[in-house]
Amino acid sequence: MGSMLVAIDGPAGAGKSTVARAVAEALGFTYLDTGAMYRAAALARAGRAEVDLAQVEIAFAGDRVLLDGEDVSVAIRTPEASQAASRLATDPAVREALVAKQRALIAGGDWVAEGRDIGTVVAPDAEVKVWLTAAAEERARRREIPVAEIVERDERDAGRAAAPMVAAADAVEVDTTGLPVTAVVLRIVGLVPR
Ligand code: C5P
Repeated sequence: MGSMLVAIDGPAGAGKSTVARAVAEALGFTYLDTGAMYRAAALARAGRAEVDLAQVEIAFAGDRVLLDGEDVSVAIRTPEASQAASRLATDPAVREALVAKQRALIAGGDWVAEGRDIGTVVAPDAEVKVWLTAAAEERARRREIPVAEIVERDERDAGRAAAPMVAAADAVEVDTTGLPVTAVVLRIVGLVPR
């Protein structure tokens, strides 16, 4: 009984969450939002730098995100939480703790996991790797934030020393600029051996 992993990485606003969710639905796989884990970790650490993330429980219940049992689904989506997650994600010890949690989750069953480093660090042996991109202007519009903010996050994610955001050498690049979600989903589902 084999298990299958579809890794979807790329910058903020490329459409990863919408696309990964729909691909998981189409394939009957489980969806993993690793960005939500960095966001929840940032909440756990807010004003409490000493919190050991290995001891913190980050769980998913349907489309809800639970931090030590508390529903933080809304709290992790504020602009402040986005920036805090992006800053926290530069810490190698934080990444190590969250990658361990992610590997434990995807160890069993079929998954569509989205993030920045799934195909490079979390699961370099993923069966399918997609690098999802879109023009910065379109990504900013989708997120309803200034282009400068998207560019700032890109630069921090790509420029950090620990697991910088980069496409895996064997990832298939899919540029979603101007493409409907359905077309992107079909393209990715078509990459999955069945
Ligand atoms: O994908 P999302 O925007 O929710 O991710 C929030 C932040 O978490 C990103 O800006 C990025 O810095 C970080 N992240 C990461 N590695 C992942 C997923 C997210 O560094 N696999």
